[in-house]
Amino acid sequence: MRAGLSATKNNMRPKRLIIIGLDGVPVSLLKELAQADVMPNIGQIMRNGFFAPMRSSIPEISSVAWSSIITGVNPGEHGIFGFVDIQPGSYKIRFPNFNDLKSPPFWSRCRGKSVIINVPSTYPVKDMNGVHISGFVSIELPQSVYPKFLITQLKKLDYRLDVDSEKAHTDLDLFLADLDKTLTARIKAAEYLWDYIDWQTFMLAFTGTDRLMHFLWSAYEDKGHKYHKDFLGHFRKIDAAVGEICSKITEDDALIMLSDHGFEKLEKDVYVNYLLASEGFLTVNPTGRADMINIGRPTKAFALEPARIYINQNGKYPAGSVEPNDRDSCLKDLESLFLSLRIDGRKVIKHVYRKQDIYSGPYINEAPDLVLIAEKGFNLKGAMNVQELTGKGPFTGKHTYYDAFLLLNDKNLAGEIPDDLCVADAGRLIQNLVKE
Ligand SMILES: [Zn+2]
Repeated sequence: MRAGLSATKNNMRPKRLIIIGLDGVPVSLLKELAQADVMPNIGQIMRNGFFAPMRSSIPEISSVAWSSIITGVNPGEHGIFGFVDIQPGSYKIRFPNFNDLKSPPFWSRCRGKSVIINVPSTYPVKDMNGVHISGFVSIELPQSVYPKFLITQLKKLDYRLDVDSEKAHTDLDLFLADLDKTLTARIKAAEYLWDYIDWQTFMLAFTGTDRLMHFLWSAYEDKGHKYHKDFLGHFRKIDAAVGEICSKITEDDALIMLSDHGFEKLEKDVYVNYLLASEGFLTVNPTGRADMINIGRPTKAFALEPARIYINQNGKYPAGSVEPNDRDSCLKDLESLFLSLRIDGRKVIKHVYRKQDIYSGPYINEAPDLVLIAEKGFNLKGAMNVQELTGKGPFTGKHTYYDAFLLLNDKNLAGEIPDDLCVADAGRLIQNLVKE
């Protein structure tokens, strides 16, 4: 625990709580841009407040990490383990959404009104006390906005649920223009709701940062890159919006800024299912259905995105070929396979976690048996029908586990946060600061 006052005492609860999320922004990038004066307002908060690196969720992907941030619990309790999952007792693929979140988000406990904008994995929206506009993956506008009458106003502001990332595959100029329009509209909607609603908790997540860093991490690292200035411009604009917010908050308010995972340069994609197939753990059925994990017999283990490993256990799956008694030895074989993997002489996998080491709670049975964390530069992927162990797609940046960040405008708020904090700890802090 850190020295400082306890933020959880009732008399320490802030009048209003403001949470700003910067999807995927690593602690190192934020620090560098604050020092380089690209993000002077955030630099100011850093100097006066509390700033620390933070671990993401395992796996380090947005849906899992944001679910931990808004609930304060681990995936074993909130039930979100990835962007895709399989239906229990089958190989059928499903896409978990906000209806699958098993633990309540902080705004359901807040006595006053909340404004929640663009938090990933909160689609479809539900009745709540305040305003909720869901984030990635939001499909239809009517199911993304509560209350519905706000849709007219959002359309006037040219609000967009998400940037059109498809554009980045064909034309980066068009992508950047769309990214900027999306950001502008997001900020306008936030400004409108800031004044329009008498709120007690306000949460705004910026997710264009994640898209930008996936496609143009290279533009950040290379100062001579054609899009280096555009990259910085996006962050400059976010900082200006943060500055606006800071000018409107009082010393009775608490401001939390955080990211859900970090980012780094992507050197190589590594296909985990290819490895499992080539080592005899997996038999791929190439002619299967698009909505299924297409495995043939025999299969001992398969992977779902990004690197979640499931033992194909008899009794648990229809074509299960690992007897419960053999599960442990299969896990050991897989652990030694993953930890000994070398590509170009370099170790690829840093950690192999067993589910009981990282998850606890009533939904642990739905958890993957193993989750892998990669070494620097390697991007683990769960695609099934691939012909090579490694590849390289259009992304130049990838998620990281260790270097998300937490930034608080008041040092005292950090009183009960552990030194080696993770996103669920930040979520617990938020739950504690919300007025019931
Ligand atoms: Zn993210």
